Amino acid sequence: MPDLFIKRLNRGQGKELILYSQKDNDYKVFEGLPSVSGNQTHLRFHPTRFEWVGYSTTRQNRTFLPDAHDCPLCPMSDNKEPSDIPVDQYEVAIFTNRFSSFQLSENKAPSLEIETNQASGTCDVISYSANHHDEFSKLSTERVELIVQALSNRTRELYGNSKIEYILPFENKGKEIGVTLDHPHGQIYSFGHIPEIIKKQAIVQQSNPLKKYLGNIPKVLILKKNSSAISFVPRWARYPFEIWVVPLRRVSNIFELSDIEQHDLAELMLEASKKLDGVFNSSMPYTLAWQLSPKGFEDSHHFHVCFQPIRRSKTKLKYLAGVEQITGFFLVDLPPERSARILRGEEKPDE
Ligand SMILES: [Zn+2]
Repeated sequence: MPDLFIKRLNRGQGKELILYSQKDNDYKVFEGLPSVSGNQTHLRFHPTRFEWVGYSTTRQNRTFLPDAHDCPLCPMSDNKEPSDIPVDQYEVAIFTNRFSSFQLSENKAPSLEIETNQASGTCDVISYSANHHDEFSKLSTERVELIVQALSNRTRELYGNSKIEYILPFENKGKEIGVTLDHPHGQIYSFGHIPEIIKKQAIVQQSNPLKKYLGNIPKVLILKKNSSAISFVPRWARYPFEIWVVPLRRVSNIFELSDIEQHDLAELMLEASKKLDGVFNSSMPYTLAWQLSPKGFEDSHHFHVCFQPIRRSKTKLKYLAGVEQITGFFLVDLPPERSARILRGEEKPDE
């Protein structure tokens, strides 16, 4: 793997900006966007779903699809609007979200007739590039490697915080999925509790390890395999063109991957994202999840990455409607075997 250089800037009120690069950069630093004050966050317990619901009062005020001049993720100059990344250039940046849904500082929950709790944790933003018009699939392999390195480094730090129980790096890509910034970026949610669905998946993996399925993935589903990772459409895909990228050796967290495993993961992820854009020759909207182990399940969890695309034909999106939203039971129009053939370019998708 290439060298990793890290520069940290204190942004006040416990917020940090961390710049990751493959060369030793000199940054010109400006006065950036000020902190958002008065953000009240807390959790309330849902008595029938038996899980926490989070509330945050400032999220409604977030910036909505600004152009490059007003973009909070673009680098700064003397005549540009203040940014969340107030330096003149950068490669990859991670910073504390000003509109964080979770807070590490003491934040009292209201006293109600139902159970409430502090929304403990923190929310980071990761910018993949200083270029407003980039996207994941158009980055170089070196840049995707740097993203993997940065996420490894940052999630290892977050994992060391005793208030954090579960870390989810993810990306919402595309206006269709509701992103509020065009600038290529992902997020890292660090939860003070383990969400119920994540807990269930982690418990299931204790007796039904993912590794069991890796050895006999049929050829029709495999997109690519390299020395330490495999990308494939799972037989059980819930989304059209769903892709998993899985390291062959079981590690519970991204920061346990060796240099070569990080490189191999980056290579297959980049190729998967290009294949997704290739299906309809347009940028594919998706959610991307980096599935790290919740605390307490490190002995059995198998770290992997999932792309969950939502475009099922040139003109149609997969919406989570009644059945999916109410029951969690998914109905899928496109058989995974056909998705894989289309992703490999062996078959044409529906118009
Ligand atoms: Zn931008």
